[in-house]
Amino acid sequence: MKKLTLMACLLATGTAACAQMADTRKAPVAATPYAKSITAAGLKKHLYIIAADDMQGRETGTAGQYKAAKYITEQFKRVGLQPGAGNGEWEQPFVLYMDTLTNATITVSGKTFEFGKDFYNSLRDNKNQELAQTGVVFAGYGTVTDTADSYKGIDANDKIVLLAEARLGAGEQKDRLRAAANKGARAVFMVNSNLPGISRAGSRLRRTGLYFGDMMSTMEFIPNVYFISPELASAILGKPYSSIAEGLKAGGPVPAAAGKIDGLAYQKGQSEIKSSNVLGILPGTDKKDEYVFVTAHYDHIGVINGEVHNGADDDGSGTVAVIAMAEAFMKAKKAGKGPRRSIVFMTVSGEEKGLLGSKYYTDHPIYPLANTVSDLNIDMIGRIDPEHEKDSNYVYIIGDNKLSSDLRPISEAANRLVGLDLDYKYNDPNDPNRFYYRSDHYMFAQHRIPIIFYFNGVHADYHGANDTPDKISYPMLAKRAQLVFYTAWEVANRPDRLKVDRNEK
Ligand SMILES: [Zn+2]
Repeated sequence: MKKLTLMACLLATGTAACAQMADTRKAPVAATPYAKSITAAGLKKHLYIIAADDMQGRETGTAGQYKAAKYITEQFKRVGLQPGAGNGEWEQPFVLYMDTLTNATITVSGKTFEFGKDFYNSLRDNKNQELAQTGVVFAGYGTVTDTADSYKGIDANDKIVLLAEARLGAGEQKDRLRAAANKGARAVFMVNSNLPGISRAGSRLRRTGLYFGDMMSTMEFIPNVYFISPELASAILGKPYSSIAEGLKAGGPVPAAAGKIDGLAYQKGQSEIKSSNVLGILPGTDKKDEYVFVTAHYDHIGVINGEVHNGADDDGSGTVAVIAMAEAFMKAKKAGKGPRRSIVFMTVSGEEKGLLGSKYYTDHPIYPLANTVSDLNIDMIGRIDPEHEKDSNYVYIIGDNKLSSDLRPISEAANRLVGLDLDYKYNDPNDPNRFYYRSDHYMFAQHRIPIIFYFNGVHADYHGANDTPDKISYPMLAKRAQLVFYTAWEVANRPDRLKVDRNEK
């Protein structure tokens, strides 16, 4: 469908469509001198600092991230924002945890089997465990239902239950672990013939991702499970595992097999990681108790195999856009044109670890979520994706119509002052990329706060070592940042706050 143009409107004078058109055509022209102060050169200067090698890829919980936080704070101070994290602070601190495996071995007949090679499990879902010599019983697939019981005639009490290889969903697996627990098992060994494939994950198997202290593992009350190779199973049972598996018929009796281990050690340590969101606020005038958020994540993925991943586009581009917008709004403020609503400029960390900083903020909001009008979130706006190589004058707009019918008309009116092609492709709920769920705005959307996610799409250097500042299209970065600025201006200054009248996926 084509957009209704001004000419179509003029030709159709007097129609309802035209009246609506006239209403939505109000672009925030008063913002223009300030929007124009967001320049390619200014953004470039900041981005060469934020995405420099000495920021070490800004990984959450590292010195590079702390350095970036310091730089952003300095910029917020310089342009004249007020500390936005409460109590005169610029940073909202939060603590994350990571578990690292320190010792994990299974000994059978004097031979030591190793974690990552002969067996593995998920560090998040399993507890420290130490077993001396312990009996092992084979219990087939370990199913217990109203009509079937794999444990018939098997005493699993105080033993390790060894289960045959099966492709299980998370729910089914949990059911079998629970059944083993009910039978008194101390641990469960599940055969997995894909150990060589899994071991390629290398050291990543030996640590968890970052998590909050109050994030419970879903397996908390279930015995430890270890996925073991068929070779380890054979060693334990004293005969080839394959011969036992062959005897396993659906619904039939479980072939008798048992053995023991000499011992098992499974120990992990927990480390504490400190991180923060950086916030500056420009207090509004007559509607200062309503808040408009402009966000980007300042963390990236750090140093991998000795290579700094600079994250110039992801999300250095959003970070410097937030800084430049703060400066432009402060220029307007100094000229007596400050926003009616308060504007909070927030750069979060932990995004690359699972939207952790924005989750922390929305779980511990500094400004009431009920008075938070909107979040305009910028994540990657400095590059051109392969689909737009021929015509690079675009930005993807995601989520603008999900919660409020006001936001798209405002965004499109703002864009008349910028002239980008607004590409809604990824706003389609059926798009397999599911970008709507993949950046920080989503944490706000979950609280029914209307959002827009600005995005340039993925490209060959996405999460690669070549996402560097020299690859950025600075004129496009400036244009996209100006679009966000005009939109924020209108949302912060319009008489009515955005209504929340939609509920789209
Ligand atoms: Zn990323």
